[in-house]
Amino acid sequence: MVMQRLSGWGRTAWTVADLVHTTDVDVVRSTIGTAGERGAISRGLGRSYGAAAQNAGGIVLEMTAENDPMGIDADFDPLTGLLTVAASVSIDAILRMCVPQGWFIPVTPGTRFVTVGGAIASDIHGKNHHIDGSFGQHVRSLTLMLSNGEVVELSPEQNPAWFWATVGGMGLTGVVLRATVAMLKIESSRVEVETVRLENFDAVCAAMSADGVDDDYRYSVAWVDLLATGASMGRGVLTRGDHAAASKVDNNDPLAYDPRLTVSAPGWVPNGLLNKWSIKAFNEAWYRKAPAKSHIGLESIPAFFHPLDGVNRWNRLYGKQGFIQYQFIVPLDRTDVLRKVIEKFSDAGVASFLAVLKRMGPQNNAPMSFPTEGWTLTLDMAAGISGLAELLSDVDSLVLDAGGRHYLAKDSHVSASAVRRGYPRIDEWMSTQEEMDPIGLWRSDLSRRLGLVDYRRSL
Ligand SMILES: Cc1cc2nc3c(=O)[nH]c(=O)nc-3n(C[C@H](O)[C@H](O)[C@H](O)COP(=O)(O)OP(=O)(O)OC[C@H]3O[C@@H](n4cnc5c(N)ncnc54)[C@H](O)[C@@H]3O)c2cc1C
Repeated sequence: MVMQRLSGWGRTAWTVADLVHTTDVDVVRSTIGTAGERGAISRGLGRSYGAAAQNAGGIVLEMTAENDPMGIDADFDPLTGLLTVAASVSIDAILRMCVPQGWFIPVTPGTRFVTVGGAIASDIHGKNHHIDGSFGQHVRSLTLMLSNGEVVELSPEQNPAWFWATVGGMGLTGVVLRATVAMLKIESSRVEVETVRLENFDAVCAAMSADGVDDDYRYSVAWVDLLATGASMGRGVLTRGDHAAASKVDNNDPLAYDPRLTVSAPGWVPNGLLNKWSIKAFNEAWYRKAPAKSHIGLESIPAFFHPLDGVNRWNRLYGKQGFIQYQFIVPLDRTDVLRKVIEKFSDAGVASFLAVLKRMGPQNNAPMSFPTEGWTLTLDMAAGISGLAELLSDVDSLVLDAGGRHYLAKDSHVSASAVRRGYPRIDEWMSTQEEMDPIGLWRSDLSRRLGLVDYRRSL
């Protein structure tokens, strides 16, 4: 156990905890047995942006298996595509193992450096939510350690209430030890991608709407230029596609897969490197680089799904102040709210390096899962911009009044009451959580800030 300063990927709210790095079930059990009143929480690869995997003054169990000399702790059947894997294993390791055998992870976020445990706890979504739903929908079963050290098997059939409370439960129901995931069959390691730039926000929404052709594409996402004004407001670049057939790949080995990190962000970056002017210049170049008329081409898995992973530790580009990622969803018929939010950011001159729009499909059974049918907009911005808290609070009200909600895996801003309004099944989830953790062991900085758990129970 070492005292360690920890933050999320946004590098904002640092706190100190006793960190235990282990993948050993017995060590997990004995460690949680020593927890004091600040409790314990699991941590994967720390890619959630805020404080979901931190626990000030308590224990953080770092469940990662990178560079494990024993290799990947996984059992994969290439005939059925069923993968049983330790929760500490990353999507990166899974792809290296499964893509050459013709299988892909059913849901991937914008980085492959997340663990299976983190993917379940946040019920992550990808560019295919409108077709395939979120990660939890592809988990056939999972093994969970409860706060009393007992290990239980959960699935949508076997104790569904506990299973779905764990999916999207932000690590607050127990430690996920293993999971069985149904993988997706692919013929090649290439994605056939259509790219087109769209001149304003109406054009972006029309192209991505449910009554258009968007449902013909497994993957679909748009980058939006938040700094464009006037007739170009909300202009964007839409990319969508599906895994390419082997016959389309001009290569003897259509399943060859070789992700590489290309460059590293420097260790020291001046504050303000990513500012309104540098981002405006980037946005202009990015928009102009995209074809004005739809263009179809083949892209590699890293280029299409994980472009940011090409720059190691890119989160340092925001300098010491760190950055915030703000992601919300509103119902399909509330594009007016998206427009207002974009106008607010544009008027305030708050630049977002990454502004991404995605149409989501229906919600699954997990009470705390973020995705629900609607539009989700994700914005990155430097922390410490003057007036940012007020701007985001205004946006919170717009989102909540429209019946929307915020994504907890990205959050470092919203209030407990905003979560209560956004997640109507929160009381049901809290009573299941209490049943699973009657002593109130599982605690994180996020759960304390947002009142996710009733801490009147004491350890
Ligand atoms: C560049 C980038 C792009 C991203 N794109 C997307 C995206 O497209 N879609 C999306 O949904 N998310 C996205 N994310 C967010 C990311 O997928 C989630 O935050 C994910 O949970 C991170 O996994 P992790 O292993 O890093 O977990 P951590 O960040 O370490 O922890 C996240 C949560 O999981 C819990 N947890 C971790 N391991 C376990 C375990 N073994 N048992 C129980 N609970 C556990 C923690 O307690 C915490 O609550 C992105 C993040 C980055 C940095």
